[in-house]
Amino acid sequence: MLSEINKTEQLKLQDDINAFIAGEISATDLKHTSAPFGIYQQKNGKFMVRIRVTGGLLTFKQMQAISQILNDDFNIGFAHLTTRQNIQLHDVPIESVYGIVEKAVELGLIFRGGGGNTYRNVMVSPESAFSDKSFFNVQPYAEEIQNFVYNYDKAYALPRKLKISISCNDEDSALATIQDLGLVATIQNGIKGFKVFVAGGMGRKSSVGVKLIDFLPATEILKVVSAIIELFYDHGNRENRNLARIRFLREKLGNEAFAELFAEYVNKITDYPKVDIADQKQNITDFGSAGIADNNAFELWKTRATSATKSEGAVSVELFVPNGNFTPKQFEELTAKFEKFSNAALQLTATQNLIIPFVKTESLSGLYNLLNDYSVNLKGESFNGLVQSCIGSKFCKIGILDTPYYAEKASEALDNYFVGKPKEQAENLKEIISSIKISGCPNSCGAHPSAKLGFQGMKKKIDGVLTDIFFISEGAEIKADEAKLAEQQAEFIKADLIAESIKNWLN
Ligand code: SF4
Repeated sequence: MLSEINKTEQLKLQDDINAFIAGEISATDLKHTSAPFGIYQQKNGKFMVRIRVTGGLLTFKQMQAISQILNDDFNIGFAHLTTRQNIQLHDVPIESVYGIVEKAVELGLIFRGGGGNTYRNVMVSPESAFSDKSFFNVQPYAEEIQNFVYNYDKAYALPRKLKISISCNDEDSALATIQDLGLVATIQNGIKGFKVFVAGGMGRKSSVGVKLIDFLPATEILKVVSAIIELFYDHGNRENRNLARIRFLREKLGNEAFAELFAEYVNKITDYPKVDIADQKQNITDFGSAGIADNNAFELWKTRATSATKSEGAVSVELFVPNGNFTPKQFEELTAKFEKFSNAALQLTATQNLIIPFVKTESLSGLYNLLNDYSVNLKGESFNGLVQSCIGSKFCKIGILDTPYYAEKASEALDNYFVGKPKEQAENLKEIISSIKISGCPNSCGAHPSAKLGFQGMKKKIDGVLTDIFFISEGAEIKADEAKLAEQQAEFIKADLIAESIKNWLN
């Protein structure tokens, strides 16, 4: 059910889209209204429409809804899984945009706060539900935050964006230590709670957040969420957008004064809902069994794609999605394949892939055959499309380099390196694709400051010719209490040499 304010926002969006189509307002005017819904114009004039997937958990019902929208008469180009666990619809004609919003809202998908100066999608560790190293499943806490903030109007009128993420242990796979607000699960004396990191972030002047609370009982999570929204609303820099994120406020005040200010806001919040989440029973999906034609390929796939879970007799399975993209027909086909297994919610990962959290181990042959029968290869047999990059300058209006093009060059280098070594490829694929990250400009949407090997695109005049280049950064270690961002090297490389860099790094 939409709140009153949301209906008003939605009607304003409709009016402004109509005015833009009629040529009465500019793209910049439209952006003021559309960005907070996660709707942006692409470089080619068409639009991108971002659907929030809270904590990256895509239920079968949501899959059906997205498939329905993709295959309606909206003429959408493709769907893209993002590094923040959202799903973006790309190459959308402006005439379709409002219809998509209406339909998505009707189908229960979330738009409010997809972009602009609002709080963004809450990310979680993708392994949170199933890993035996996870303290507890943090995804339901992302849902609680989403439900709480949905009608929190100040969260949509902030000086700049606000990013929150939740990790399920100190390995910090949701990068909580480099968010505006990061929560890292822990347990003390049998009580669930979080370490609280504040004022980190990636982009211009990336920085690791400071730990301001050692143990926040999980029941109190919304108190801290309220506090950070109120603090940012009151004190964030509204004059200079480039200095608006919370990390710049911390830099201005110094760590001590910032910590005092944060404590003052936390203490001020007295009226907030307590969160009490009982352990939930997880569904194990049974894909049946099937004959295997190529046992060697099946074993290699199991090595690449499966991970142990805390449930005996069940493994998690990663589906490797080339470039994180699906055409409408491919998404419809995938949805149809999962129809019989509709309890199999899919978890989106920051590496733009999908995970089925619990698959009955004995039914892996059934799943393998289902994947063999699908028009997109999700089995990770090649690195093609699996190196993580932002969407790049072909679509992004402020982008500098066409990063997917260079990600493809990086993938080719990786495939060449593993020719004749399929077992090593299978054993190392997941680690490698989570280690290399490419951003098309200093805004860092490809998350390169958090990479073991990161590339940040720029252009430079070399011998009088404007040339694509990369700054390379290396050595990020993202772990709660000891996070370290990658260090950028002073020298840059011509972007065409990315394959060489990858080879050197592998050796
Ligand atoms: S990193 Fe730069 S090019 Fe890439 S999506 Fe972000 S703003 Fe665009």
